Amino acid sequence: MEKLSNPKKTIEVIQKYQFDFQKKFGQNFLIDGRVLEKIMDAADIGAEDFVLEIGPGIGTMTQYLAERARQVMAVEIDRNLIPILSETLSDYDNVEILNADILKIDLRKAVEEKNQGKPIKVVANLPYYITTPIIMELFESEIPVDNITVMVQKEVADRMQAQPGTKDYGALSLAVQFYAEPYIVANVPPNCFMPRPKVGSAVIRLTRHQNPPVEVKNKKLLFQLIRASFNQRRKTLQNGIKNFSGLSFSKEEVADALEQIGVSPTIRGEALSLEQFAELCSLLDR
Ligand code: SAM
Repeated sequence: MEKLSNPKKTIEVIQKYQFDFQKKFGQNFLIDGRVLEKIMDAADIGAEDFVLEIGPGIGTMTQYLAERARQVMAVEIDRNLIPILSETLSDYDNVEILNADILKIDLRKAVEEKNQGKPIKVVANLPYYITTPIIMELFESEIPVDNITVMVQKEVADRMQAQPGTKDYGALSLAVQFYAEPYIVANVPPNCFMPRPKVGSAVIRLTRHQNPPVEVKNKKLLFQLIRASFNQRRKTLQNGIKNFSGLSFSKEEVADALEQIGVSPTIRGEALSLEQFAELCSLLDR
C-alpha cells in the first residue's frame, strides 16, 4: 500500500471513510515522510525493538514503525479510527491496535506481558492537550523504557530541555531531567500536518537515565518542593515553599536549609539546579 505520508493518500483515506477530525483528541496527522524518517532515526528503532505508539491516528507513523521494529503496540482512543487502521496497516503482521485511553490502561502489565519486562521504546506524535500527563505517567509508572521520542508543541520541548536561569526553566524541566536526558531533534512547522496546528512543533528524544542524576530518599517531597518553588513565579523560593499546601515548613527552616546549601534566602526557584533541589530536599526531609 502506498504510504500515508504522501498527502494525496491521506486525503484519499480521509475521504473514503468520511473521517471527521476531532479537535478534542488533538488530531493533527503527519504528512511529511522526511520528518517521519527523522523520528525513526532519532528513536533508533531496530529489528529487535518493541515499540509503544501513542495515538496512531490513521497509521501514518505506524507504517514506518512496523517496517523497522519487531513489534508495535499502538493505543488509539478514537474508535472511528479503528476500521481505518485495519485497512492502512493490513500489510503488517507485527502491529497490535488497542482501542483505549493511554491514561487509563495498565501499561505496566501490558508491557510485562508483551515484552517480558524488557525495555521498550515509545514513539508518538502526541495529542498536545495531554503531553505532560502522558510523559509523567510513562516515567512514574516505572515501565522499563529505553527512550521516548515524541512530537510535542515547540514551546513544551523548549521547557523540557531548559537549564537553570533561563526563561523556559521550570517544574517541567526539572521533572523531565530527573528521569531522562532531553534532546531536541528537529523543529517541525505546521505545514507538515493535516490539519495544520496553530502552534509550531518539535521532536524531542528523552533518553531514560540508567540511574537518577541525584540521590533522594523522599521523591515525593522533592517534587512538592519543585512545584512549590514555581507555583508563584515572582515570589522567592522561601515564600513559595512556605505558602504551598501540603508542606509545613516555616520561613526560618527554609532559610536555614538554603544557607546550608550556600545560596541566598531570597533566591527564586528558577535559579536552582536539580542537584540543589535534591540537597534542599535531604535537609528538609525529617
Ligand atoms: N500518529 C498519528 C500521526 O502522526 O499522523 C496521529 C497523531 S495525532 C497528533 C494524536 C493521536 O492521538 C490522534 O489519533 C488521537 O485520536 C489520539 N489520542 C488522543 N488522546 C488519546 C488518548 N488519551 N489515548 C490514546 N490516543 C489518544
